[in-house]
Amino acid sequence: MDRKISENFLGGDPHEAGMPMDYFIWLAKSDSKIRVTDTDFNQQAADKREREFLRCPTEGLKLLGVDATTVEDVIITHLHYDHVGNFDLFPQAQFYLQDSEMAYATGRHMTNPFFAHAFEEDEVVAMVRNVYKGRVSFYDGDEQLADNISVHHVGGHTKGLQVVRVWTQKGWMVLASDASHYAANMNEGRPFPIVVDVSQMIDGWDKMKRLADDPAVMSLFQAPSPELEGIAVRLDVCDAEGVCPPGWKNNIVDPQDNLQGNQSD
Ligand SMILES: [Zn+2]
Repeated sequence: MDRKISENFLGGDPHEAGMPMDYFIWLAKSDSKIRVTDTDFNQQAADKREREFLRCPTEGLKLLGVDATTVEDVIITHLHYDHVGNFDLFPQAQFYLQDSEMAYATGRHMTNPFFAHAFEEDEVVAMVRNVYKGRVSFYDGDEQLADNISVHHVGGHTKGLQVVRVWTQKGWMVLASDASHYAANMNEGRPFPIVVDVSQMIDGWDKMKRLADDPAVMSLFQAPSPELEGIAVRLDVCDAEGVCPPGWKNNIVDPQDNLQGNQSD
């Protein structure tokens, strides 16, 4: 999605250059377990909100050898339309959500368009129906799902936003989701304008730095194969020559590298 720089930082930006936005889901795969984080959005939502729809995320998963219809665990970082838009394509899944996110998405703040804009009423209602079917597991704060993966409440962008910490070959990694839409939001201390609590958002950056580092995505990591160039990246490996992505070793990211940012509404 094309966006102006000024749309991505609270208080705007003196530069009026473009700063496009990418939309992601994440796959965490071990020898014994597959977990997906977030489900992105579909063509209908893209048309309605004037985003370019590149591909259904379940097609992206298929390219990585994962059939969405068999996935049993889906972590939902928050209930914005671009993070829960395809959850009907995961018919076997249990969804993992913070108590505070469901309360936020069904409570008083949704009477105000400023907060409600990035939610889709039908998707929130559908998730409520999943609650009654026993298909939602709730957390309140931080929770270890297994030895190698945990969720952590951050808030800020929404009341119940959670980030995901994953153990990889390179150590602990944090999937920030919209806790920092772009690497620059966090690294330069400039909040994204879709926010319910700025202090929680800023505290969240510190929390993520304590949990792990390295927030940029497509510009820092390698595709798992040439066919997946620009579609998917592996977060846990350096390239074939053993050369690591820029900023990898010391976790200091050049701001110029951040202009191809990482997230969504
Ligand atoms: Zn969001």
